[in-house]
Amino acid sequence: MQGPDELIIFGRTYRIEEISPIHAAEGVLGLAAFREGVIYLDASLDAPLALSTLWHEAIHIAQQELLGTMDEAQARWIALFVHCLLFQNPEILRCYLEGFSPGLLDESL
Ligand SMILES: [Zn+2]
Repeated sequence: MQGPDELIIFGRTYRIEEISPIHAAEGVLGLAAFREGVIYLDASLDAPLALSTLWHEAIHIAQQELLGTMDEAQARWIALFVHCLLFQNPEILRCYLEGFSPGLLDESL
């Protein structure tokens, strides 16, 4: 997938690196290495699965940042929800692409 090379989550930049599909055999499609600042994605994923996995790992980082722990079930449903919401309502993205102020994030960043 030709996706982003990095994600900024709560002001910290995480590199996105593709890894060997060996992990797919174990059912692991991605990995959030919070301390290293890296999100690993299985290189063999198609675009929809890579994007939903990216959401999943980004949510794990947010959980670690906000809660100090990771919750697998929560990451699964939030990633699926956001992925499907954006896929079915792409006009939402236009608001972000047009460069409006992030509003409520202004004070926390
Ligand atoms: Zn997970």
